[in-house]
Amino acid sequence: MNTNTNPYYNEKTLLFFNGKFKKAATTTTDLYGQTLHYGYGAFEGIRAYKTTFGTKIFKATEHYERLKKSCELINIPFSYNIDELIEKSYELLEKNNLSDAYLRPIVFCNPNMSLTKPTSVNIMICAWKWGTYLGDNLLDLSVSSYCRPHPKTIKIEAKVCGHYINSILATNEAKNKGFDEALLLDTEGFIAEGPGANLFFEKDKMLFTPQLGNILPGITRATIIELCCQLGIKLNEGQYKLEQLNEADSAFYCGTAAEVIGIKSIDKKEFSLDWEKSLGKKLQTAYKNLVLEQQFSLQN
Ligand code: PMP
Repeated sequence: MNTNTNPYYNEKTLLFFNGKFKKAATTTTDLYGQTLHYGYGAFEGIRAYKTTFGTKIFKATEHYERLKKSCELINIPFSYNIDELIEKSYELLEKNNLSDAYLRPIVFCNPNMSLTKPTSVNIMICAWKWGTYLGDNLLDLSVSSYCRPHPKTIKIEAKVCGHYINSILATNEAKNKGFDEALLLDTEGFIAEGPGANLFFEKDKMLFTPQLGNILPGITRATIIELCCQLGIKLNEGQYKLEQLNEADSAFYCGTAAEVIGIKSIDKKEFSLDWEKSLGKKLQTAYKNLVLEQQFSLQN
């Protein structure tokens, strides 16, 4: 029995493991797997919201499709049915009495100490209550000394366990310097993304975001792009240097865990536009309404 007190589970918590619901506190895994030793596994971060119409998992299909794609990109077999995984995710929330929650599916490997691809894998889905990952206050960012991995080094568009060492190093570096979060450039010096979020910035009433290629294709990023289209906000995707960001009016991070969160400063240089008057604020509200399925609600 695990006696640790942690914010993720207690004695009653259930998780979904290879087709069955099991107790989180007593379910074990093998210690000789490639995921533990080499970071060779894939995962997702998904949010469920208590909406006017009941508990809704936001963009569930997109997240499980990305999990499948992540596995395929790194040669991990993925034979799960996505509709079934979504159904099990809802069941997991219900069994744990969760509504507003974060879901974490992970596909991980069986014992194999060699560097060959696996023939069979495991899937686990757990869920817990998690506030916005980066908090609700505007962020002070610091440009990291680490850059995002080059796409010829890893599959940057896959959400792979081992990739997060880069994110952890960057986050810790920023926090040790007294900042809230890091901003990473790519290997060519163009702005890439945060350790766990995508970046947008505003200049002259237009939005700009790094193009795909050197970043994780965020599902929140795609949602923000859709919202820009609906709200008539002009959006540009491209390669941008730090100087362009420094001259921007406003900026924000977005991601499933962080949702939409405004940025106050980059290496202590503050953005000039009041967040409340920014496109980011408008999109933050639109995103909240969308995940809570309130976009057509009379109150809004
Ligand atoms: N970039 C990185 C490196 C991330 O880890 C995340 C979080 N998954 C994101 C961007 C945002 O992706 P999403 O909107 O799909 O959560």
